[in-house]
Amino acid sequence: MNLIVLGAPGSGKGTQAVKIKEKFGLPHISTGDILRGEVAAGTELGLEAKKIMESGQLVSDEIVLKMVSNRLAQDDCKKGWILDGFPRTRPQAEGLQAMLAEVGSEVSLGVLIQVKADQVVERLSSRRTCRDCGKIFAGADLQVAGDEIPAEGECPKCGGVYYQRGDDRETTIRERLEVYENQTRPVLDFYNDLDKVVEIDGSQQMDVVTDAVLSILKDRFEDRIQ
Ligand code: ADP
Ligand code: ZN
Repeated sequence: MNLIVLGAPGSGKGTQAVKIKEKFGLPHISTGDILRGEVAAGTELGLEAKKIMESGQLVSDEIVLKMVSNRLAQDDCKKGWILDGFPRTRPQAEGLQAMLAEVGSEVSLGVLIQVKADQVVERLSSRRTCRDCGKIFAGADLQVAGDEIPAEGECPKCGGVYYQRGDDRETTIRERLEVYENQTRPVLDFYNDLDKVVEIDGSQQMDVVTDAVLSILKDRFEDRIQ
């Protein structure tokens, strides 16, 4: 079962990908997380990627394809995987297709989480991410006094520190949405043409969305549930 989770920044695709991972026991591969890991570790790739990410632009197809190809070659990916944040351009989708064809494999399904642009801006600007455990929090989850959510604070899950991602500031958010419309829309067409996309209404509460996602996957991949 090889899944890709599709949707705009702030659609909740990362959160849903983790739920799928928990239900089906497959590795969750987020290219954004891998890149942020490189930035945190201060690697050469990280140094290069940092500026691009903070401006809301995309890291080059070549780099990202290499990253994904290395990751999918690891042992834990043999039974399947969940890709999150990739493919994000048509060349990435074509590259993935070619890479999989070489080993006689293919994408099983793309799960598209649909949300409207104004909802996305609001969600992203109040979103916080834990530096330590990686959990993503909606502003409402943090139960802070007053309307302003602090840029940093204590993670309710692990006691570590949550922070506001550099690319979750309002100016960068608009840029990312534009990049999504221009560069990632064609990826939807690519998988729609292959008849591999199911759409989920992502404007509902997170757990309602999760129920919808898992029920669709259960119907199709019943035998894979752990
Ligand atoms: P979101 O989906 O909320 O935008 P991600 O964590 O998926 O967040 O991505 C954050 C940033 O990392 C992107 O804006 C981009 O700069 C970079 N990135 C992640 N995945 C890719 C990719 N597949 N191709 C190019 N750049 C990527
Ligand atoms: Zn944490």
